[in-house]
Amino acid sequence: MGETRIAFRDVSKRFPAKRPGEAEVHAVRNVTLAIADGEVASLIGPSGCGKSTLLNMGSGLYLPTEGTVEIDGVQVTGPNSQVAFMLQKDLLLPWRTIRENAELGLEIRGVAANERRERALELLARCHLGGFENHYPHQLSGGMRQRSALARTLAVDPAVLLMDEPFSALDAQTKMVLQQDLAQTLAAENKTALLITHDLVESIALSDRVYVMSERPGTIIEEIVIEIPGREDPMRRRRDPRVGAYVAELMSLLHV
Ligand code: ADP
Ligand code: MG
Repeated sequence: MGETRIAFRDVSKRFPAKRPGEAEVHAVRNVTLAIADGEVASLIGPSGCGKSTLLNMGSGLYLPTEGTVEIDGVQVTGPNSQVAFMLQKDLLLPWRTIRENAELGLEIRGVAANERRERALELLARCHLGGFENHYPHQLSGGMRQRSALARTLAVDPAVLLMDEPFSALDAQTKMVLQQDLAQTLAAENKTALLITHDLVESIALSDRVYVMSERPGTIIEEIVIEIPGREDPMRRRRDPRVGAYVAELMSLLHV
C-alpha cells in the first residue's frame, strides 16, 4: 500500500439546535481513520449514526466542528475536485445522453471535446455500457443508470471516491453484478475509495478493511482487516467460507 490519500483526524461534528430549547445533534465523535492509495475501505454502522455526515466531511460539503480532514496531506476546507461522490440516487441529468453525462465533470474542468469524449467512451465500455452511449437515462434500467453514474464519477479521475450506499436501491442480483463491475474497475484503475453500506456481505466482499461505527454520536469502534484474497472478484470472495465468520463478527459489533 502506498501513501495516505484521505485521512480523518479526530473529527467531530455537531449540528446546532434548529430552535431554541432543542438540543444540538452530536452526529460524529472523534473519528480517526486513514485510507492509503489504492485501498478500498467500507464503513458500516446503525442508521443515523453519522456515516453520511462523515462522508460529507470527506467531500468538504460539511466542515468538522473539531478535527481535520486531509486529502493528499492538504486540509479540506470546502467542496473540492479531489473527491468524487456517488450516491444511492444516480443524479444523472435527464436531458443529456449517457455519454454527455459521463463527460459532465470533464466539461466543467474545461477538457477539450475530443479528449473528454474518448475518456467517457472508455469508461462507459469498462462499465459495460458500450452501445448505450447515446441513450438517455430514462431509457435505462436502475442498474444501468448506476453504472453510468459510476462512469461519470471515474471520468474525472478523482483522488478519492466516496460512495454512500450506491447500490441500496437495486435488486439483489443487479447489485451483485454492479459490485463486481465496481470492484474490477477500482482495481484496474487503482482507485482509493470509502464505501458506506448496510450490507455486511457487500462490505466484506468489496473492501480491504471494514470500519464499524457505534450508535450516534458515531465513532469508530472497530477496524476489521478482510484477509480474503482477490478483492477484484467479489463474486468469488462471497463464496469464501471465511465470509460467515466475518459476518458473525460484524453482527456482534452491531448488536444484531
Ligand atoms: P447515517 O448516514 O449514519 O444514517 P447521518 O449522517 O445521515 O446518519 O445523520 C446523523 C445524524 O445527524 C442524524 O441525527 C441526522 O438527523 C443529523 N444530521 C445530518 N445532517 C444534518 C444537518 N444538515 N443538519 C442537522 N442535523 C443533521
Ligand atoms: Mg446515510
